[in-house]
Amino acid sequence: MTAKIVNLDPVTPVTPAPVRRVVGPPPPPDVLLDVRGLKTYFHVMDGTVPAVDGVDFQLKRGETLGLVGESGCGKSVTSLSIMRLIDIPPGEIVAGEIWFDGQEILSMPMSQMRKIRGSDMSMIFQEPMTSLNPVFTVGNQIAEAVKAHRDVSGREAWSRAVEMLEAVGIAAPKRLAKQYPHELSGGMRQRVMIAMALSCDPKLVIADEPTTALDVTIQAQILELIKALQERTGAALLLITHDLAVVAETVQRMAVMYAGRIVESGPVEDVLLRPQHPYTLGLLSSIPALHKRGRQLDVIKGVVPNPFRMPAGCKFEPRCPYAWDRCRQSDPELLAIPGGDVRARCYLHSPEGASRLAEFERVSVATVADETL
Ligand code: SF4
Repeated sequence: MTAKIVNLDPVTPVTPAPVRRVVGPPPPPDVLLDVRGLKTYFHVMDGTVPAVDGVDFQLKRGETLGLVGESGCGKSVTSLSIMRLIDIPPGEIVAGEIWFDGQEILSMPMSQMRKIRGSDMSMIFQEPMTSLNPVFTVGNQIAEAVKAHRDVSGREAWSRAVEMLEAVGIAAPKRLAKQYPHELSGGMRQRVMIAMALSCDPKLVIADEPTTALDVTIQAQILELIKALQERTGAALLLITHDLAVVAETVQRMAVMYAGRIVESGPVEDVLLRPQHPYTLGLLSSIPALHKRGRQLDVIKGVVPNPFRMPAGCKFEPRCPYAWDRCRQSDPELLAIPGGDVRARCYLHSPEGASRLAEFERVSVATVADETL
C-alpha cells in the first residue's frame, strides 16, 4: 500500500519532497558565490509572499559586496537562503541556483551543507545577544564552533578561541573567554560573534546588519574591525545593510534591492556618485545632512507595495516620479548602462526612455552635488 501524506493543517502546506534541480554550468573559478534567479517565497495564511523574486549576483574571491535596501526588501531573506537557513515551511526556495566555491548548494544534502556552514561560509548576525547561548561562556561557544569543523582537541579549540578573541581586539582574551554573554557590552558581544564567524577561516562571511544594535561610536569600530579582518584573511564579504554610509566606507561593489529584486548594481563609487535608478536616487536624496538644516527632508513618496498586490509592471512605479505608461506594462530587466559596469532595472535606460533620461540625469547630478557638499 502506498503511504499518503495528509496535511492536517489547512493553512500550512506540506513540505514538498526534495526535487532534483536542473542546474546550469558552474561559474569561473574566480567567482566564489554565484546567485542565479533566486526566488524564495513564504506561504502564509493570506497567500504567498515573494520575499525574494529573482535575484542574481556574483561575488568574486576576496571581494566585498553590499546588499542595500529598506526593511522588507528581501536582503536578509537572500542571505538566509544562501546559508540555507530558511524555515521550510512556511518558506520555500522555489527557483534558482546558488553556486558556492564550485558547488551548487541548493541541491546538496543538508548534512553536506552543515559542513560548509560555519566553516567555509559563516554569518555575523545583527543581534549578538540573541545569537549567543546565555548558558555557556563565550570561549566555550567559539571552541565548540572550531571543534565542529576542525579535527582538533578541546585544548587546541580553546586556544583558537582565545587567539580569535585577541584578533578582534579584546584586551584580556583569556579572561573574557571565561565570561558569559550577559557580562559583556553590546560591542564586546559583537566582537565575539565576529571572532566565532572567522574562527574557521571562512571563504565567505555574510554580515547581516552587524552594527544595527550598537551605539554609533561602537558601530564605526566594528565596521573598521570587519574591514581589517576581511583584508587580512582574504575572505569575501557580503554586507547586508540599509545604511548607504556604511556601504560607502566598507565595500567595493553594491546591489540595491527593492521589493525582492535587485534594481541597481555596480561599483560603489559609480552607484553612489552616478545613480541610474530612481529608487537609488530617492535613497540618496533622503539622507539627512547638517547643511540641509531648515529644509524639508526629501522622502520617497508612498510605501513599499503590498506583497499580495504587487504592481504588474515595474515594482517601483507607484512611487516613481519618472514613471510613464511603459512602466505599467511589464517589469524591466536589469539593463547595462553604457560606459561602465553598472546595471539598472529601469526603462529610462531603454530606447523608449531616451527622451526622459535627460531630466533624470539632471536631477541625479544636482542631488549628488548636494549630498557631497
Ligand atoms: Fe520609474 Fe519606470 Fe524606471 Fe520603474 S521603469 S523606476 S517606474 S522610470
